[in-house]
Amino acid sequence: MVDDRGRVIIEQHLETPTEPASAVAEIGAACRAVAAEASVAIERVGIGAPGPLELSEGIIELAPNLGWERVPLRAMFAEELSCAVWLDNDANAAALGEAWVGAGRGAKVMLMVTLGTGIGGGVVADGRLFHGAAGGALEIGHQIIEPGGRECTCGRRGCVEAYFSGHALVEQAATASGDQEASLASVFQAYVEGDPSVTPWMDRAIDALARGVAHAVMLFDPDQVTFTGGLAGSWDAFGARLRAGIESDVGPSGPHPSFGLSTLDGRAGLIGAARLALQAIE
Ligand SMILES: [Zn+2]
Repeated sequence: MVDDRGRVIIEQHLETPTEPASAVAEIGAACRAVAAEASVAIERVGIGAPGPLELSEGIIELAPNLGWERVPLRAMFAEELSCAVWLDNDANAAALGEAWVGAGRGAKVMLMVTLGTGIGGGVVADGRLFHGAAGGALEIGHQIIEPGGRECTCGRRGCVEAYFSGHALVEQAATASGDQEASLASVFQAYVEGDPSVTPWMDRAIDALARGVAHAVMLFDPDQVTFTGGLAGSWDAFGARLRAGIESDVGPSGPHPSFGLSTLDGRAGLIGAARLALQAIE
């Protein structure tokens, strides 16, 4: 629950549900519990969901990480909660939140890059999200930067997130060292220490991400680039190389944005989802 100044009033977390119907029922119950706790009625709901989405219909087309296909999430929540519902991509929602009250406050154009299980992106220009014609803009993670390269969860090969994403990093670590249990924290630690079983593929993964972000910088000319997501917590391990790679790919004549980390502590998505619903009446 978020107020009209972007402050989180009450927050509840759930395990990631597996089936759409049970997800809607569980999240709906949590929404009602939060509303009851605050003694308010739910007027409108904003949702940040994994995409690609069919925005005009409020449908999740495909969420490979959840195994969902053609899920009419907006209609399902409107029925569950009997109120108006706004739906957007989770990375877009995070971008909107960060641009509203976080690291991008005051920026004219903010590019947000979400580093998590997958790699997402969003652009907020003059306070509004840039969606593209069908809501599919800024899929930074699924730009092919290595034709014929590593297999991606989207079914194609050589995408950015087939190299640098939570999923891809663990997989590459397991392949390189034979250790199937290696945690991301231990992999980043080994990289910082110069472990030769990690350095070559990690360098390549960071450079793949840099190239993908550099493309977005060239196309959208942001004055602020904000990184967020679970992997951003390990920024000290890869941030310097990533930034140098982006600046090198963009070149001296390209845009010169500021770089920074999310300041909303993982709440950017929920604050931005609330902003979606609030913005609709402004
Ligand atoms: Zn892909």
